[in-house]
Amino acid sequence: MSSGHLYHGDLYRFDRPQPSYWEATAGTNGIDASPLEGEDSCDVAVIGGGYTGLSAALHLARDHDVDVRVLEAGHIGWGASGRNGGFCSIGGTGVQGRDLIKRVGLEQAKAHYRSQVDAVELVRQIGRDEEIDFDACGGAELEVAHSPKAWRDLQRDYEVLKDALGMEVELVSADAARERYLDCQENYGVLATRPTFGLHPLRYCRGLAAAAIRRGAKLHPHSRVVVWKKLADGSHRLETAAGALRAKRVIYACNGFMDEDLDRRFHGRTLPVVSAIVVTRPLTKPELAAQGWRTEHPAFNSRRVLAYFRVLPDGRFLYGARGNIRGDADGEAAAHARNIAEMRRLFPAWREVQIEYRWHGLICYNASLCPSIGQLDDDPTVFFGFGYHGNGVNTATWTGKQLASWVGTGRRPEELPLCSTGLSKRFALARFRLAMLRLGIAFARWRDG
Ligand SMILES: Cc1cc2nc3c(=O)[nH]c(=O)nc-3n(C[C@H](O)[C@H](O)[C@H](O)COP(=O)(O)OP(=O)(O)OC[C@H]3O[C@@H](n4cnc5c(N)ncnc54)[C@H](O)[C@@H]3O)c2cc1C
Repeated sequence: MSSGHLYHGDLYRFDRPQPSYWEATAGTNGIDASPLEGEDSCDVAVIGGGYTGLSAALHLARDHDVDVRVLEAGHIGWGASGRNGGFCSIGGTGVQGRDLIKRVGLEQAKAHYRSQVDAVELVRQIGRDEEIDFDACGGAELEVAHSPKAWRDLQRDYEVLKDALGMEVELVSADAARERYLDCQENYGVLATRPTFGLHPLRYCRGLAAAAIRRGAKLHPHSRVVVWKKLADGSHRLETAAGALRAKRVIYACNGFMDEDLDRRFHGRTLPVVSAIVVTRPLTKPELAAQGWRTEHPAFNSRRVLAYFRVLPDGRFLYGARGNIRGDADGEAAAHARNIAEMRRLFPAWREVQIEYRWHGLICYNASLCPSIGQLDDDPTVFFGFGYHGNGVNTATWTGKQLASWVGTGRRPEELPLCSTGLSKRFALARFRLAMLRLGIAFARWRDG
């Protein structure tokens, strides 16, 4: 069995759901799906049952009338799609604003931002069309400057985002931010970006799955692909523990949980990074007021090793930050302890509030710092979408739709920015990715002060 994973095996226990707030509150599963058994065949097989794979399946079945199956190693939404922070926001790349322009040029950066705005709207539209109740709240994303220098940088970012990239942004002084939005220990001003909203990620994921099934897709949870073979007639054979699926085309949609050895052409192209989340007990209105919290908007700070946070519709505080570097259970406990201490320093009024949930998962970087969406050059029957740099709620959904259009029509969609099209290059010294990540994080923390 192939096991091309970068981290400790604890991170790939596909049989175990994460003990997340989302798992506890998503409600009944309601998805009519069972593991793959015996021999079967289809037109398109999708590997990975998160937003990318489910959105691809929904759009293929609904808009292109394609016979599509999804094979998922865990339960539907087991990966990052069932355990993220629920920010449906603008991002998707490893660098933003002027740094993105420097990297890919103004026209490509504009195309990327346009696609991001469309992608946020796409999530809302799917919610409406497919009647998914995903607990939408808030309408902007707040970036909180953590230092005077960061505030000066945000002012420059504001100009670029507004004038060069045509984004809807607003600069809010620290005092005005306290009155309108929130307060914390490091608040030197806020950059608000629209459109953005918060949602319940697992409810959204299950809603996508239910919609895909209604539209004719078949989903197979607990069906990890362990062997992927190309057959003499050009079709693919995907083997799981209990069955095998033959497909004319395959979409590889595993993002940070990708098995790099399943098809070696994907080896060394991603840098999965652990992100960890804690959620408190519900805070009362006086407790929220004591910390100066007045907003439903999701927020994050401007540190290089950043923290992201939001108050959920039931008053709980969600706080996310960098996870551990090994992926094992001991490292996870240590990372949570460090993050909780930092959360209490930043939000001192909630120092004594109990934490009720803690979990973690993998986000995915690419060497190109842009998503990888496309078709293999040497095999036009293999498609892929991954590398959303911690911003996949909208980007993965949108990617799934683009892939469905590409597979369904046979043409590369025009909306796809060139900077995200194709397989990202391999990381130099791919074997040492985690060592380099460790060094990079230490350096970034040192620069953050
Ligand atoms: C803690 C955390 C917080 C985050 N917060 C945010 C946020 O607030 N906003 C945002 O936009 N993004 C956020 N992200 C990122 C976002 O969740 C991801 O970018 C997005 O979910 C990726 O979707 P996906 O479908 O591509 O991958 P995933 O949802 O990870 O799905 C991939 C699936 O592939 C399956 N798989 C792997 N190998 C196999 C195999 N061999 N056979 C079959 N199936 C396989 C896995 O089980 C997994 O379920 C966060 C991520 C994490 C981990």
